[in-house]
Amino acid sequence: MPTLTYAGVAYEAAPGESVLDALLRHGVQVSNSCRAGACQSCLLRSSTGALPPVSQRGLKSTLVEQGYFLSCICQPEGDLVMEPAGGLEVGATITALERLSPSVLRVRLRPTGKLAYRAGQYITLKRHDGLSRSYSLASLPDDDTLELHVRRAPAGRMSGWLFDEARPLESVSIRGPAGDCFYTAGKAEQSLLLAGTGTGLAPLVGICRDALSQGHNGPIHLYHGAREADGLYLQQELGALVAAHANLHYAPIVGAIEDAIGARHTSLAGWRGFVCGNPAVVPMLKKKLFLAGMPSREIFADAFLEAPAPKN
Ligand SMILES: Cc1cc2nc3c(=O)[nH]c(=O)nc-3n(C[C@H](O)[C@H](O)[C@H](O)COP(=O)(O)OP(=O)(O)OC[C@H]3O[C@@H](n4cnc5c(N)ncnc54)[C@H](O)[C@@H]3O)c2cc1C
Repeated sequence: MPTLTYAGVAYEAAPGESVLDALLRHGVQVSNSCRAGACQSCLLRSSTGALPPVSQRGLKSTLVEQGYFLSCICQPEGDLVMEPAGGLEVGATITALERLSPSVLRVRLRPTGKLAYRAGQYITLKRHDGLSRSYSLASLPDDDTLELHVRRAPAGRMSGWLFDEARPLESVSIRGPAGDCFYTAGKAEQSLLLAGTGTGLAPLVGICRDALSQGHNGPIHLYHGAREADGLYLQQELGALVAAHANLHYAPIVGAIEDAIGARHTSLAGWRGFVCGNPAVVPMLKKKLFLAGMPSREIFADAFLEAPAPKN
């Protein structure tokens, strides 16, 4: 059985157990959330031992070279010596908390240091007690603050705290950015389709604004879906953005977003797509775009995977 040495203490991992599960079983506190290798909350750094390549999936090459890895998807093949992923975080201050709807909060943050990022990427937000969750960036690097849209999850620890307890001037820390869901210049006339449900709108708004600010002149179609009308938000701000840009089309949809897209676009050959939000909807939308002719290399997506609900 592999021995995991974490912060100088040795622990045994059971066969087939991930590093995260082994450490948690031994009572070690390690930040984590999605447990599926998506949110990067459980990042650790290994100084000795071979890491399975999958455990470094999606990490920047600079992090890979330094031995950072995702402990939730790392099944150790031998002994590992590890430490917490310190040194990657920057401090930040909450500057504003604004309800955009009964279930969506706009959180503005000012980092204490420079954060180089692209609109649409995500950061890991860490509370004073170590609770960490990922949130996508609706802001552009030139904006004064980072902007997040947080959905209130029933009994959600981070979202509940942000809605009910956090106040402006509160200190937090952030890590990142991560993810490849962002606009890249070079094909200004290409048609873009952005589709998201719930707070999946956050990265899409950032990507839209980024594309427009970089002079994208091809059509941009933004679809925002919600189960009920009060799940839609930011309609006024998006209406103003549409009024200022003839190539931007915005459709708020109550009900099945995939049907609305299918009814309006029979062929998406040559398009680029961005899909974010509910983890049940994202793979289905990606498939829909692909089947309508959009090449998979042109589809960028972030599924907002949540931590598993506690077992009773
Ligand atoms: C790449 C990425 C980007 C993301 N971007 C965003 C974003 O921009 N905006 C956003 O809103 N979210 C985003 N998320 C999701 C976010 O990271 C959090 O998972 C989400 O905010 C929930 O965190 P929480 O601490 O509030 O809930 P948690 O406490 O982690 O709860 C997780 C789930 O369990 C359920 N649960 C908790 N306790 C109970 C209980 N006692 N009984 C039944 N169910 C329970 C909750 O309802 C929730 O669905 C993103 C996730 C990823 C992976």
